[in-house]
Amino acid sequence: MDIQKAFCPRCGEPAEEGLCPRCRVADTEWLVCEPRITTIYCPTCDSQKRGKTWSDLQMERSELIGDLAVSAVHLHEDVRNVSITIRSEEPTPNRTNVSVGIDATLYGLPVSGACQVEIVWQREQCDRCSRISGGYYEGIIQVRATDRKINAYEREVAASIAQQAEDSLQEGGERLSFVTSIDETRDGVDIVVGSQRIGQYISQMITGALGGRFTTHPKLVGEKDGRTLYRVTYSIRLPFYQKGDVVVAGKRYYEIRSVDTQHLSVFDLATGIPKTLREADITRRIGNIRDAESAIVAFTQGNTIGLLDPKTYQTREVNAVPWLDIAEGAPIRVVRDEELEQLVIVG
Ligand SMILES: [Zn+2]
Ligand SMILES: [Zn+2]
Repeated sequence: MDIQKAFCPRCGEPAEEGLCPRCRVADTEWLVCEPRITTIYCPTCDSQKRGKTWSDLQMERSELIGDLAVSAVHLHEDVRNVSITIRSEEPTPNRTNVSVGIDATLYGLPVSGACQVEIVWQREQCDRCSRISGGYYEGIIQVRATDRKINAYEREVAASIAQQAEDSLQEGGERLSFVTSIDETRDGVDIVVGSQRIGQYISQMITGALGGRFTTHPKLVGEKDGRTLYRVTYSIRLPFYQKGDVVVAGKRYYEIRSVDTQHLSVFDLATGIPKTLREADITRRIGNIRDAESAIVAFTQGNTIGLLDPKTYQTREVNAVPWLDIAEGAPIRVVRDEELEQLVIVG
């Protein structure tokens, strides 16, 4: 018999030292709940305020209720193997009653407990919605083209880039990088934005996708909340020539593959050889491959191809091109040179 064995001073059960686990559990306040917690949200966009900071909610409401209820539950640091069950009901739109059940172990013994947490939902307009509803903006992006009006395709690209930029910056947590409006004007598109960050970003993306360049014109408009407020106009000039244009230079047809400030990267539509041109080399533009027509190949004979003109249904002869496999009876894409009454194979 082990005469060193100790006993619990309170209940007399065997214990290693001091109180036995059962008496330690009985002595420990292991579960404390806050009966009521208040959470602030924006009724317009569902953003949530934590402390002074607003953030977009990335979770389901039920998950949020669970999180809030759990945040009201405080467990003793010796509690282990915690499992929590949540049941909630909403007696009014501004109240959620949550029953929280806790199963755990403490000093090696199973323990369980329960508590009630009331969540109070308080509405407040968030920073972003108050800026938007107050007409606040920091920039206007004016999308225009050089010596021509911008076309439907460019309008569409500009608008969809603005929307994508807003989505990706918002997802990255830049709440105030919003797009206030996208307005079609006679000469182009005006995009009104909530921050200079998104203004710069959209301007770079649009010129990246459509060529051209932009200049920025800041203007001091006053002070807001103790800081000077600038509004910036981002003036985008899309190039005269666009990607996909079919142009004539030195009696040859070229398709423009990319446009930058100095050069046009082109594709020789007769030989398939890539080349670089300057704008000054170009004598005229006959169309764009986006507007290409489809023509059926009536026959092939050596280097000559007979194409059925989709407008007149007459057969026109053109030279074969080495960069494209052509089969009789199959359609190919052509752009029409109205001036020389020719069809130009583009793919
Ligand atoms: Zn004991
Ligand atoms: Zn909001």
